[in-house]
Amino acid sequence: MRLQDGIYWYSEKGYFDANTYIIADERTVLIDPGLERYLTLRLKEMREDGIDPKEVDVIMVTHLHPDHCGATAALKEVSGAQVALHPSQRAYLDRMAEDVPKLFGMGIAPRFVQDVLLGARLSIGTMDLEVVHTPGHSPCSISVYEAERRILICGDLVFEKGVGRTDLPFGDAEELKNSLEFVSELDTELLLPGHGAPIEGSGNVKRNYEFIKRVYFNPLF
Ligand SMILES: [Zn+2]
Ligand SMILES: [Zn+2]
Repeated sequence: MRLQDGIYWYSEKGYFDANTYIIADERTVLIDPGLERYLTLRLKEMREDGIDPKEVDVIMVTHLHPDHCGATAALKEVSGAQVALHPSQRAYLDRMAEDVPKLFGMGIAPRFVQDVLLGARLSIGTMDLEVVHTPGHSPCSISVYEAERRILICGDLVFEKGVGRTDLPFGDAEELKNSLEFVSELDTELLLPGHGAPIEGSGNVKRNYEFIKRVYFNPLF
């Protein structure tokens, strides 16, 4: 569904799936293709919004858990898009593809290759995407920030009234806390998490960070 001009949200389809976001400008970026099982359904929803999968130029993932990146290889085939990975994702690609799916009783995640290595910034036309390394939930978690629109796509770092789990392989609670401190300083009008609904309005986004800091990071607990 279209959230605002050039920004689309396709909500998670089942228990083990993730939100997909599309940023359509001169170039079109798709972030988190989700689980492969739901790709056909996702593509159908995109077409209903007038987005042909072949328009997708770049596929990014917020991290390498299969609920976010499982459909990457299949989507690349359908769209012809390039897969752009953050250096931390390239470093963990093999280990994450084997260890994490097994934990969830899945086979090894379908392999995909990285075509482009992401830098700190990706200009896609009028919008400029800042790529920030925000480890903790996983060592290869990134967030994507668009300063002009004040949009933050944060994967499994933060949700409405919650944070990503840190008990999966290579998770780190201290790092998650630091990452959360960092993103909470970004002026954000629209927070787009990996699960659950977007949080709209800077007041709501701020209140959510305050809630999380109070409930999850209060030294009394
Ligand atoms: Zn995850
Ligand atoms: Zn997830």
